Amino acid sequence: MAPNSLFDNTETAFQLKSDSELERAYFLFKMISIEPLVKIGSAVTKFALNLNLPVEGLIRSTVFDHFCGGVNERDCMSTVDKLYEVGVSSVLDFSVEGKEEEAQFDATANKVIELTEFAKNKKAMPFSVFKPSGFGRFSVWQKITEKKELSEEETGQWTNIKNRYERVVKVAHDAGISLLIDAEESWMQDAADNLCEEMMEKYNKEAPIVFNTLQCYRWDRLEYLKNLHERAKSKGFKLGFKIVRGAYMEKENERALENGYKTPICESKKATDDNFNEIMRYIMDNLDDIELFIGTHNESSTYLAMDYMKEDGISKSDSRIWFGQLYGMSDHITFNLGSEGYNVAKYIPFGPVKDVMPYLIRRAEENTSVAGQTSRELTLLNKEKARRKL
Ligand SMILES: Cc1cc2nc3c(=O)[nH]c(=O)nc-3n(C[C@H](O)[C@H](O)[C@H](O)COP(=O)(O)OP(=O)(O)OC[C@H]3O[C@@H](n4cnc5c(N)ncnc54)[C@H](O)[C@@H]3O)c2cc1C
Repeated sequence: MAPNSLFDNTETAFQLKSDSELERAYFLFKMISIEPLVKIGSAVTKFALNLNLPVEGLIRSTVFDHFCGGVNERDCMSTVDKLYEVGVSSVLDFSVEGKEEEAQFDATANKVIELTEFAKNKKAMPFSVFKPSGFGRFSVWQKITEKKELSEEETGQWTNIKNRYERVVKVAHDAGISLLIDAEESWMQDAADNLCEEMMEKYNKEAPIVFNTLQCYRWDRLEYLKNLHERAKSKGFKLGFKIVRGAYMEKENERALENGYKTPICESKKATDDNFNEIMRYIMDNLDDIELFIGTHNESSTYLAMDYMKEDGISKSDSRIWFGQLYGMSDHITFNLGSEGYNVAKYIPFGPVKDVMPYLIRRAEENTSVAGQTSRELTLLNKEKARRKL
């Protein structure tokens, strides 16, 4: 069994935080724990940014600097280096969201290519990442998922999306850098899964360069995985999966209710947890065919993964298994895993303040709605503050 106290070590968890950064984190999580404040704060911030009111400075010095690496990749480099010194890798995530213009999608794809080429010579950055909706209009993904006919303009936009995928995946393949593709709302995800599978079939022949994401709050994902695994075996390509629980639960349930279809979300938190752990077990049983990136802040699932590895005689640094947490969250998991020699990475979002706001709002809402997560952060920060006083 893994020692179930590893994550209690706050000295390791917060080793990179100065006293004042520790205070700022405490203040921030305290604010985020107040649900009405998050709701009002999110609305006021959106409004102020739309009106170009001078609120960027305030956002930067609070939520932005806590959850993001900077406004561009250069800002992130000192963080990347500091993390690597203590055994933690980085996944730089250009988190610009909600764009509609083709030129913006091209710019995002070019940014991912630039970072992937840079990562080739930077051991601290073993993965690149992007979101399907960062490469093309959400409505196009949705229409394809819903099997609706595309207009002429949309057909052109779809061709552009496929070309962006092809360019980015080819660069990643040639550089030997694995590419994590995020998962989004279920009503656009089939199109994203299908395109990702095409890329896997073409570029994952020798090694899994392309990783898709399985949102384990969806009850259909284990079956999806098993079917794809069969197909990959028969066609001779490898799979890579990031597994997460999923970030759009409220939206998913609301939409299903409004439109009168069965929600794609598991019936309870326990059902999601079981599904997550079962999918993790399935992949670990098939590591020769499928590589695994475990994206979670859940301590039990992480301890369970460590137990499985130990029981199966898999070394902590086996290159087929990675753990990942978001920058600014669950440092107690990340840094303690790193100090024990596990492969672990932080997702570090970056981008202009206004453009990363949807990401930041999701994080604030997640920390408000995920029972226990904020209070856990506060308890750990308090413990470390007390330890330093001594
Ligand atoms: C490295 C990394 C990459 C990520 N990439 C993605 C991505 O590509 N796509 C994406 O959607 N998210 C992504 N996420 C976000 C992730 O989905 C959330 O951080 C995650 O849901 C929080 O869950 P947890 O595993 O930390 O565990 P916990 O905090 O234990 O679980 C909370 C989650 O459980 C689920 N849940 C809660 N209540 C219920 C209920 N009543 N019924 C059913 N399910 C419930 C929800 O998914 C909720 O978010 C990523 C996270 C990380 C760390």
